Amino acid sequence: MGQKNQVFDSVLELVGNTPLVRLRNVTAPFKGQYYAKVEAFNPGHSSKDRIALHIIEQAEKQGILKPGDTIIETTSGNTGFSIAMVSIIKGYECILAVSSKSSPDKIDMLKAMGAKVYVCPAHVSADDPRSYYQVAKRLHEEVNGSVYINQYFNELNIDAHYASTGPEIWEQTEGKITHLVACSGTGGTISGTARFLKEQNPNVKVIGVDAYGSVIKKFHETKEFDENEIYPYRIEGLGKNLIPSATDFDVIDTFVKVTDQESAHTAREISRSEGLFVGYTSGAAMQAIKQLNDEGVFGENDVVVVVFPDHGSRYMSKVYSDKWMGEQGFFDTVNKEEAQIVEY
Ligand code: PMP
Repeated sequence: MGQKNQVFDSVLELVGNTPLVRLRNVTAPFKGQYYAKVEAFNPGHSSKDRIALHIIEQAEKQGILKPGDTIIETTSGNTGFSIAMVSIIKGYECILAVSSKSSPDKIDMLKAMGAKVYVCPAHVSADDPRSYYQVAKRLHEEVNGSVYINQYFNELNIDAHYASTGPEIWEQTEGKITHLVACSGTGGTISGTARFLKEQNPNVKVIGVDAYGSVIKKFHETKEFDENEIYPYRIEGLGKNLIPSATDFDVIDTFVKVTDQESAHTAREISRSEGLFVGYTSGAAMQAIKQLNDEGVFGENDVVVVVFPDHGSRYMSKVYSDKWMGEQGFFDTVNKEEAQIVEY
């Protein structure tokens, strides 16, 4: 990597081996050294390229998939985009069952990548036959030679990061990493990466980032599913209202909860101060680091790696829209002056 004049057979050869970039400004006042694993450098612009490629290649190895077969998943987010991308190169049909809550932009983006998109009503329960879960399940049963990625309940999601993200971070830090900070959605990224890193050095501390409105942190602490923890929140891609089996709670030391508002402002701050145009959950992960720093968790000799899962361009109508930020009330208590910038 990093060599000039390289030629690749397809975009799939560019999946993984993402750079680790030292953070220069946002963490400047904190003790320790901070590095970001910038997953937007994947060809599909997110960490989900790794799981799409890994899960599809494992299915090929097992003889489940042959050219022309169909890959099915229930997401309008990064995973959908990555599956669509891998499907193009490998010659599969890609069907994505998504919620009618998904923005038209997202649906158009998936269509641009050749996916067939089924838009399913958002406000029905998961077991309603019209829900995107049930539509995906039914299509999987009906379509011969289809694979259902099922990222929240697929152990291969963890494997993908165990095989790639973990070893990359270990090598890039020359084994000096002391803390891993990563958002937990399916839990695949943090679980696979942490499992590998802890095998190399059991002292590496692993901190998951969760949203207010998600059950994950409480479940980790109490092993109880507390429905009272569940309420709507705006960050997409982290936290959950169920317990995914793609999360290995044993390799995660602790979870930190972050707010929608602070995460949004921190994403903007990273873009402005590091020149790294990052997504909403990158802001969430950095917000968790700020909170941990306030608690005095980090020491002078610590080497902290934070995963930045995707690119800011996917959030133009949200975190990077002053209008949207204003509508959420996110300018009410912090950065009032930020809202008033009118210069273009
Ligand atoms: N950030 C974003 C933007 C995501 O799409 C996801 C995946 N849901 C995550 C973070 C969390 O990654 P994981 O699913 O591996 O826990």
